[in-house]
Amino acid sequence: MKYPEPFNKLVEDLRALPGIGEKTARRLALFIVTEMDKEKILNLSSSLATIKAKIKNCPVCGAMMEESCPICSDPTRHQESIMVVESVKDLFVMENSGSYHGLYHVLGGTIDFSRGVDPSSLRFNQLLIRLDNIKEVIIALNASVDGDLTGTYIKALLKEKDILISRIAYGIPVGSDLSYADQKTLSLALENRTKIK
Ligand SMILES: [Zn+2]
Repeated sequence: MKYPEPFNKLVEDLRALPGIGEKTARRLALFIVTEMDKEKILNLSSSLATIKAKIKNCPVCGAMMEESCPICSDPTRHQESIMVVESVKDLFVMENSGSYHGLYHVLGGTIDFSRGVDPSSLRFNQLLIRLDNIKEVIIALNASVDGDLTGTYIKALLKEKDILISRIAYGIPVGSDLSYADQKTLSLALENRTKIK
């Protein structure tokens, strides 16, 4: 059977989302067309149309925010430690693990000279200006060549400062339930972080 063109277009748009293959996209599109009323569809499309304009990145830590940063403006968080992560996505993963209650710094990537990502294109300067009352910088970058290189770069940047630098541990055996194991892995990785300076 040939589907109507607008339906195919919706399927194609949905497929742009991660984890959505052809079959799931068709199922979602079918649900939208047959089960959702006009108001719900308008609400969804309005959310999609305005999300980029409504959400911005915190100029200090780089987290996602609307009016004020939910992390920087939270006085209950430990104000003396900063965890350096690669992306907002990694910040969410760590935040969802519930094992860390300090501040964050989103770098916006890792150093990768082969792809033209040099230190000047990442948020290192923004990190340097917020270290006055910081006692520990925790590096939570991916365990890769780029992550290692970036970690080493941070260590060199902070050489003269009286700040402890640690790196979260990797490769800890995990349990069977993935979502639980992920949280567990992360809290263990944080707990077993190693001091590198
Ligand atoms: Zn912030």
